[in-house]
Amino acid sequence: MFLGGAGEIGKNMLAVEYGNDIIIVDAGSMFPGEDLPGIDLILPDITYLLQNKHKIKAVILTHGHEDHIGGLPYLLNEINAPVYGSRMTLALVELKLKEYRNIKPKMITVKEGQSIKAGVFGVEFIYVNHSIAGAFAISVTTPVGVWLHTGDFKVDYTSVEGKTTDLTRLAELGKQGVLVMTADSTNVELEGYTMSETNVGRSLDVVFAQHKDKRMFTATFASNTYRLQQLVDLANKYGRKIAFSGRSMVNVSEVAAKIGELKINKDIIVPLEKIKNYKDSELLILSTGSQGEPFSALTRMAAGNFKGVTLGANDAIIISASAIPGNEKAVLGVIDNLYKQGCEVIYDALTEVHVSGHAKREELKLMHALVKPKYFVPAHGEYRMLKKHTELAVALGMEERNTLIPEIGMVIEVTKNSLKANGTVPSGRRLVDGLGFGDMESVVLRDRKQLAEDGLCIVMLGINRASGELVSGPDIITRGLMYANENSVSQEARKIVIDTIENLQLKESEWSIVKEAVKRNLSNHFDKKTKRRPMILTFILES
Ligand SMILES: [Zn+2]
Ligand SMILES: [Zn+2]
Repeated sequence: MFLGGAGEIGKNMLAVEYGNDIIIVDAGSMFPGEDLPGIDLILPDITYLLQNKHKIKAVILTHGHEDHIGGLPYLLNEINAPVYGSRMTLALVELKLKEYRNIKPKMITVKEGQSIKAGVFGVEFIYVNHSIAGAFAISVTTPVGVWLHTGDFKVDYTSVEGKTTDLTRLAELGKQGVLVMTADSTNVELEGYTMSETNVGRSLDVVFAQHKDKRMFTATFASNTYRLQQLVDLANKYGRKIAFSGRSMVNVSEVAAKIGELKINKDIIVPLEKIKNYKDSELLILSTGSQGEPFSALTRMAAGNFKGVTLGANDAIIISASAIPGNEKAVLGVIDNLYKQGCEVIYDALTEVHVSGHAKREELKLMHALVKPKYFVPAHGEYRMLKKHTELAVALGMEERNTLIPEIGMVIEVTKNSLKANGTVPSGRRLVDGLGFGDMESVVLRDRKQLAEDGLCIVMLGINRASGELVSGPDIITRGLMYANENSVSQEARKIVIDTIENLQLKESEWSIVKEAVKRNLSNHFDKKTKRRPMILTFILES
């Protein structure tokens, strides 16, 4: 069953159940869009897992991207099961769990080619190329047959790590018979093959050669160890020191270097505070912020408020990543700001300084041809991508009734001879605000939406407790509701408050009635005049 990651890209989470055993595959998170103001993180609903806690035998992680491990702390807070993943994946999990001291799961490092047992299930880890080291596809042996889950993958024959997605093993499994396959659909709409990561290295090399005198910056995902490795190699080649900027860049590069996934000589690293001791031509600054995140190093540098780094005409900035859907506007905003600072900006649309970590159509065809599953369920994609991916499977010879487009919460029942949707489990999303989370969708979010869309109106008035007469005010303050010069609306609002109170013929201390009446009448007034219904707060001073 899909608890996340179907019909969306993000918060991937699958669970497979047989008899008294469940294994969970990935526990991702997703960043909220603009419809959820103030929310930091979205997680899958795990009600079903909590109801079946006793059955859970393992949490299997395909790789260390946020959309696959971001929700893990919250899952492990409530569920105690061993966690399996590659060295890189678990190193990133450990980094994440540092913030949650009470969570100490049993973590088991696995290598490609290795198999483990979890209840009735056998899980084999298969090497795949992706935009992070230590990514796996998994082959899960169940009593009814084999489930192959590609995880996020691409096929890179000339990869930085010198290894290619284990096509041989996939073909063997295909030959032995795979009952059902779930596969990455991210790039199903794109023709051809995803360009090799080493091509990016060559493009970057050209950029470095053209900018020998400039100070260079690159923004990329800290977890893209292959990209970092190529940048480190280029820094070596062109005699530049490296400064890491941004918390995740500093932390992740350190972890990756420690476990050998990033080969970097300590002498080449300089702390960001020391860069003023070097000439522009001697520096490469590796920064976070490729997604235009508001508090990231690059975003703040571009806006001119990052301590210690002032950008200028002698800076060349490479954005070596593409915007995740939803972040485009933020990224373009950062690029605009960089240009305003006088920098040169090199980004995807201009040069090939980035490739995707996901398979395009030709690679997907190869996967289908090798694995030859009996049933197919597309994964990791928005609805149209899932649809396109099933169409691709059908074009490759699969019968349409042997495919199924998943939805979050849908229970997919697979037997030796059937694939069908069979009911649902509780599903949806859990929202995280800061470090806590709960059922916030209702009140808090409604307030935030109202504040964001309709503004705020504060009414202050003094009322005589005994007579119920207005003795001071009303003073009306509005924020985000109308322009300052629209004084007449404000004047009318004052009059409405005065009339409201006079008409009420108040008895002693019926302040809640005052508040309700003021709110109702003002709300109608603003709606008529400004087409807005601001949040109205009334403060009454008794005298
Ligand atoms: Zn990924
Ligand atoms: Zn992913």
